[in-house]
Amino acid sequence: TTFLELGLAPEILRAVSEKGYTTPTPIQLQAIPAVLTGQDLLAGAQTGTGKTAGFTLPLLQRLLTLSKPAGAAATNRRAIRALILTPTRELAAQVEESVRTYGKYLPLTSGVIFGGVGINPQIKLLKSGVDTLVATPGRLLDHIGQGTIDLSQIKILVLDEADRMLDMGFIRDIRKILELLPKQRQNLLFSATFSNEIKELADKLLNSPAMIEV
Ligand code: AMP
Repeated sequence: TTFLELGLAPEILRAVSEKGYTTPTPIQLQAIPAVLTGQDLLAGAQTGTGKTAGFTLPLLQRLLTLSKPAGAAATNRRAIRALILTPTRELAAQVEESVRTYGKYLPLTSGVIFGGVGINPQIKLLKSGVDTLVATPGRLLDHIGQGTIDLSQIKILVLDEADRMLDMGFIRDIRKILELLPKQRQNLLFSATFSNEIKELADKLLNSPAMIEV
């Protein structure tokens, strides 16, 4: 199977091909069609398996197909429609770089917010609006607390390296964030390991998910 058969837009395929990828990895082969159906996903995948493209490529495709908020003209401020949570700022920056690279030929924008740096440039970024936001939980909650972020249009949520987020003590932050998201959305959970705590989170978060493991 090649990338061509996976149902991705030519603009996405072009970016993938420029990256030099010819063959999808096993996680990509399974995750891409599953995410494109719009259903929730529970994926067991270590880093190094190509999991980032595994959720980023179909996420971009979904954003292309999902309708814009009612009445919104193309020139209106963009609303965050996809939110990707990661445990660390390094991973957040890396994932956002992937979203940017794979989406470079699409009329979609992305941004990243994490702690340990000034909040003002991030407030500016959020004001200008992005389609996909990558964030670490703590800083996302700071923005929520300050009223500098609008979560009302989120249609897709990704928890990347969920086990590491729990190991780092983010479970309460994640629970708070989940409560503030629109109920109607697609949820993708990626984790390398499956402790009872992860299973509980998956149970609470996911609706009849597709399950894949590589
Ligand atoms: P990840 O597991 O998402 O951190 O990706 C691991 C590495 O594999 C990254 O350097 C990607 O650029 C690379 N990669 C992802 N998908 C493919 C693919 N289909 N073919 C070749 N390399 C890939």
